[in-house]
Amino acid sequence: MKPRLVLAAFVLLLAVAPLALPEFYITLLNYIGLYALVALGLVLLTGIGGLTSFGQAAFVGMGAYATAWLTTAASLPGWLLPLAHPWGGLLLGIALTTLLALLLGALTLRLSGHYLPLGTLAWGISLYFLFGNLEFLGGHTGIGGIPPLAVAGFELRDGRQFFFLIWLVLLAAVWLTRNLLDSRAGRAIRALKGGSLMAEAMGVDTGRMKIVIFLIAALFACLSGWLYAHLQRFLNPTPFGLHIGIEYLFMAVIGGAAHVWGALVGAAVITILKQWLQDILPQLFGATGNFEVIAFGLLMIFVLHRAREGLWPMLARFVPEAGCRATSADFAPATPLPRRAVPAPGTLLLEVGEAVKKFGGLVANDRMSLAVAAGEILALIGPNGAGKSTLFNLITGVDPPTSGSVRFLGQEVAGRSSRAIARMGMSRTFQHVRLLPAMTVLENVALGAHMRGSRGVVPAMLHLERAEERRLLAEAARQCERVGLGAHLHDAAGSLPLGKQRIVEIARALAADPCLLLLDEPAAGLRFLEKQALAELLRQLRAEGMGILLVEHDMEFVMDLADRVVVMEFGKKIAEGLPHEVQNDPAVIEAYLGGVE
Ligand code: ADP
Ligand code: MG
Repeated sequence: MKPRLVLAAFVLLLAVAPLALPEFYITLLNYIGLYALVALGLVLLTGIGGLTSFGQAAFVGMGAYATAWLTTAASLPGWLLPLAHPWGGLLLGIALTTLLALLLGALTLRLSGHYLPLGTLAWGISLYFLFGNLEFLGGHTGIGGIPPLAVAGFELRDGRQFFFLIWLVLLAAVWLTRNLLDSRAGRAIRALKGGSLMAEAMGVDTGRMKIVIFLIAALFACLSGWLYAHLQRFLNPTPFGLHIGIEYLFMAVIGGAAHVWGALVGAAVITILKQWLQDILPQLFGATGNFEVIAFGLLMIFVLHRAREGLWPMLARFVPEAGCRATSADFAPATPLPRRAVPAPGTLLLEVGEAVKKFGGLVANDRMSLAVAAGEILALIGPNGAGKSTLFNLITGVDPPTSGSVRFLGQEVAGRSSRAIARMGMSRTFQHVRLLPAMTVLENVALGAHMRGSRGVVPAMLHLERAEERRLLAEAARQCERVGLGAHLHDAAGSLPLGKQRIVEIARALAADPCLLLLDEPAAGLRFLEKQALAELLRQLRAEGMGILLVEHDMEFVMDLADRVVVMEFGKKIAEGLPHEVQNDPAVIEAYLGGVE
């Protein structure tokens, strides 16, 4: 069955559900919808962005308490009076959540490793106690008398009426999220998981993207809280505590942390299971208590062992092609993207002067100098550990040099961010391939063209950026064809052999339209014919005026291809010249054969 048909059937079932189901199931479905909205934010934040948050329940509380306070307070300041209704409460909730998310995001998202989840635990707990201890929020006893929500003059007074609103909001949020993921901004978000090193080298502002998904997740949670407050019409702090924050995370992980529909599956499984276990387990154990938490824990362990991707991918097998994939028809007629002005052949592109890089006592680069001109291939060779990759990192802005200069297109770039340098027209591949294995080849390559587009998150969510997206994908497809990956556009990048993955990296670098290309061991793992094809491609790029700095171990490949060769050993330059000069240099022969003798 086609995904669209399945979706249509699902929506139809939802539409008739309130007519057919008894009260109990309507309530259950309402809760599933509310939870799924929060879990959807976590799918984006944790499953796709790789940022773990235990504190989402606090944002739900923010949305709920903002509207509860505004609609029930006995004495409001005069300027707030016009907002003293549920829709005003929504506005206040959104405003407060945005402020808080930006503040907390700025404080905690820079934390790495375990510190981020710990940070979210900290503010999750703080906000919970704040809700419970503020007198005007009703303390631990809570706030009652919250008015019902009115939509277009129609008051939603019971769960059956609320049902449509909740599910409409949820489906809209799923639609917005799917649109976002299937876009330029979405690729940048998905690139976060590949590590900021690669994403920044493609021109992605990773700090900003993290804040964006944090904010979206917080706003979904706030919206869920607002709906909850007007459905329940009574609030106390319990549903916004840390243990509920952990349950939200369970939902996202169990449903399928990297899949939007996984949020719904996870929310449904956990909610139904909880309901059922809360009835059964106390009878079994003969005592009251939150025994269901034990079952959730076991389920979590099972899922992490047996279905890393959660339950959704198992269900999705019944719906082939359920992903959001761009097809060739999507971008065939697009007009090409504008290109950078190419410097005339012979123009000096890169000039490294006396660059030094120390790691503690180790001098990995010792006063290294080299230059690359437009329309030239410079090979950088040397034994393992000579310092070649370190020099790549200095040039591309991954690490600042300890001293010395790096000039690119006549400007000093030492100390600039890799993103800023990439924008100037330098693009690279990595010695250890850094692709997003679950994304298609086409999407991986399109990430390289990130800097050539400009449409952001909001247009992407509404799919108002389709014209630009078509051009980006067309450019990515063009680069794939050019490097010989035309048959693999829609394959997952991780499914290709390693040699081919290196070629994907080259296509991704080319999609940035660079004037200087840095390749770190591109021929490693390639077969003979593939190497010849790569050499041919590099020759063609050189003929078009591109400057290429190439680190490579395969001497035959290098000597056939390079215009000049620089040889490094122990961080120092020991020779430089034409390939045949370098090959016969006694110091080079010593460096390469010295250990063997
Ligand atoms: P190559 O690419 O030529 O094989 P590298 O540039 O990777 O060599 O490494 C040069 C030297 O610098 C090696 O001795 C390596 O162990 C060291 N090195 C590289 N990166 C770091 C780092 N981040 N911290 C400490 N030492 C490093
Ligand atoms: Mg290296």
